[in-house]
Amino acid sequence: MAYKHVRLPEDGQKITVENDQMNVPDNPILGYVEGDGIGPDITKACLRIWDAAVEKAYGGKRKIHWAELFMGEKAAKVYDGDYFPAETLEAIKDLWVAIKGPLTTPVGEGFRSLNVSLRQELDLYACVRPVRHYAGVPSPLKDPGKVDVVIFRENTEDVYCGIEYQSGTDENKKLAKFLKEEMKADFFDDAGLGIKPISEFGTKRLVRKAIQYAIDNGRESVTLVHKGNIMKFTEGAFRAWGYEVAREEFGHCTITEDQLYSEYNGRQPEGKIVIKDRIADIIFQLMLLRPDDFDVLATMNLNGDYLSDAAAAEVGGIGIAPGANMSDNIAVFEATHGTAPKYADKNKVNPGSLLFSGVNMLEYIGWQEAADLISLAYPEVLADKIVTYDFARNMEGATEVGTKEFADALIEQINGGIDLETKRKQRSEKLARERKQREIRRLLQPMEEMIASGRTPTSVSDVMTRTLITVTDDTSVHDAMHEMRKNEVSSLVVEPNDSGEWGIMTRRDIVTKIVREGKSPTDITVGEIASRPVVTVAPETHLREAANTIAEKNISRLLVAGKDGEPMGITTETDIFGAIEQSGWLPEA
Ligand code: NAP
Repeated sequence: MAYKHVRLPEDGQKITVENDQMNVPDNPILGYVEGDGIGPDITKACLRIWDAAVEKAYGGKRKIHWAELFMGEKAAKVYDGDYFPAETLEAIKDLWVAIKGPLTTPVGEGFRSLNVSLRQELDLYACVRPVRHYAGVPSPLKDPGKVDVVIFRENTEDVYCGIEYQSGTDENKKLAKFLKEEMKADFFDDAGLGIKPISEFGTKRLVRKAIQYAIDNGRESVTLVHKGNIMKFTEGAFRAWGYEVAREEFGHCTITEDQLYSEYNGRQPEGKIVIKDRIADIIFQLMLLRPDDFDVLATMNLNGDYLSDAAAAEVGGIGIAPGANMSDNIAVFEATHGTAPKYADKNKVNPGSLLFSGVNMLEYIGWQEAADLISLAYPEVLADKIVTYDFARNMEGATEVGTKEFADALIEQINGGIDLETKRKQRSEKLARERKQREIRRLLQPMEEMIASGRTPTSVSDVMTRTLITVTDDTSVHDAMHEMRKNEVSSLVVEPNDSGEWGIMTRRDIVTKIVREGKSPTDITVGEIASRPVVTVAPETHLREAANTIAEKNISRLLVAGKDGEPMGITTETDIFGAIEQSGWLPEA
């Protein structure tokens, strides 16, 4: 199309998308919006850094051709007072990928936030926020290097939809009447009312994107974050639909966390991503205590809003937290902080947020080498304690520099010959080591891991006792009782008899069949009092089904056996009680 003010560089070529596949030429045209306030300062600095990294990585073979697009105050100047020109939207659609600085929302009636408008107009339904620590960045955590997550926040639904009715208005009264009279809802008369829509469509496209990202980037897990224990039909449904999309569309390359334990004994199979879920409040605690348990997080609008900023604070704050808003194929990368107007044109602020948004943009278009150059050069500059004012505040002996001088120092490092291969190898070795350690913990202490990692137990394999003490039929009951006391167990598994049936002997058997009958335990063998055949369930049996079996058969424990019939553990009513007492709820199967 013919643009009025947008100039597409003549030497550049547009990215194309066919069948959801993006084709990036070596000379792509990417859009950028400078932004308001501190926007021009950070954008100018970042354009130089990105270009330097691309030049260094590809030696002139690849080059970004930038097209300036206009939004906010600069747009109002160029387009006669229009802060959000239609032409900018068209250009973003045309170019597929763009990056933007922060924008001021004009104060006054009738102005929607420009960022919100952009998301709505382009249906940018996923807000993607990678949060990782760069060595040298001041952090409140003891070991911030363990933080490396990408948060996928749903952008279009939830209580942010604006379906709200102010207390005392006619609309509010009308809705309140309907809810109270027709739906028998109960709440105070003067309550303001808001609606929280969470749809299957909205959930699935977000979770689909998160899983696809995990696959494309070799990530270990995707965690669905929700408050489904309280809001069953919105957040609980998000969880259920999330698992559904994983199962139905990515069944070949994903397993659930339950399967990880019940089928793979805690050992993550090569090429499979683990899909798990955590309750929203627990995730805040876990992101501080065990951040390396998490990799990709998928969540709804409100949870995601809180979580993104809280996680960013762990690794240096909003001054360096990058972000992007995406639809199926359009991606707009952005600084996540605001325009900080008091620092406008002062060459003062940290360009980190926009810089790393650009790094993610380079990764997104497949230019990993250029992205890595920046990520690896950045800690080197910090190691020299060359930082902007915000980091200098928290760093002893820092040399405070302006935005431009920071960019100069970083470009110098990029050009200074970083050994990309060695650094990459070190990073992947570190990740492999950490992965192994997690696996060992899961293998050796599954129950402790479950509690500490905030996992909600759902199947018998989650709660079963794995130490099985087995005896043979001909063992005397007396000897068997010593075994039970020595091993602190309340039951013994009895080896198969001639018909191949496993048995079980419990403390209750001793009380009812020996003590009550006035018999001597030395004269009786285990085979005479053991129960056979023992009631056996598969490890993936849902706890609710197990409870049902226990109730129907009037027994207190179940033997858990694998596909080959070999016993793996025992689940008792005490285990089920303990699991529910600790986690507070039992999600549906
Ligand atoms: P802000 O612009 O993010 O600034 C808040 C504070 O955060 C600053 O005073 C500064 O802290 C720190 N900060 C922000 N960016 C920084 C950077 N690059 N380097 C170092 N420190 C940085 O938030 P605000 O003052 O609430 O909002 C100002 C305007 O921005 C509003 O018009 C708002 O609507 C808009 N906004 C836009 C976006 C967006 O476009 N994505 C997002 C949020 C807000 P110190 O004062 O401690 O130095």
